[in-house]
Amino acid sequence: MTMIDPKALLKKVTPTPQVANNLTSTEKKEKITALFTEIMETLGLDLTDDSLAETPHRVAKMYVDEVFYGLSDTAFPKITLVENKFDYDHAVIEVNIVTNSHCEHHFVPIIGKTHIAYIPGEKVLGLSKLNRIVDYFAKRPQIQERLTLQIHQALVEILGTQNVAVVTDAMHACVKTRGIKDVTSMTRTSKLSGVFKEDTCHRVEFLTAIPRVQEVQY
Ligand SMILES: [Zn+2]
Repeated sequence: MTMIDPKALLKKVTPTPQVANNLTSTEKKEKITALFTEIMETLGLDLTDDSLAETPHRVAKMYVDEVFYGLSDTAFPKITLVENKFDYDHAVIEVNIVTNSHCEHHFVPIIGKTHIAYIPGEKVLGLSKLNRIVDYFAKRPQIQERLTLQIHQALVEILGTQNVAVVTDAMHACVKTRGIKDVTSMTRTSKLSGVFKEDTCHRVEFLTAIPRVQEVQY
């Protein structure tokens, strides 16, 4: 069994622009509660109303513990790899992995699905770990292109192979509900490497196994 060191791994992944501030999670929540109170007051909302009173605290908790937990490197999922004793050498393909994120330009949801394929080398990974790795990077303020690259790079490092393919299909609330208000468009981002990039048969096997972008269910 091999354990992955998250700090060393994350150094090899395209960084999310971050500046360390040494605040504890409790301090972050206190500060965001105060600042969000100010945002709501600035918008002219009545914070003494019993429906609104707890909103700043709820938002602070949601940001730190839930939707942006992936900003903390200590929150990276525990990954253990096991020997590929049976010499499995074909593609492992997992489709429709829930990928719920937030766009870093508007802080509104990106709702999507990620599809992953890899060909094991000496090690294999528990399938649920793919879901956990996707969720970890999704729980950062994101642009979809970076999200796909971060998932791909982490898997290349963890699995010790370039034979990895990642596709993310998503709809962006900032495109649907404001600005251009396009309610039907969806976005696909991909990163294929190793045989999935170089070999047509592997690429076609993967791309025909995953849903077509317009068929993805949210
Ligand atoms: Zn946006």
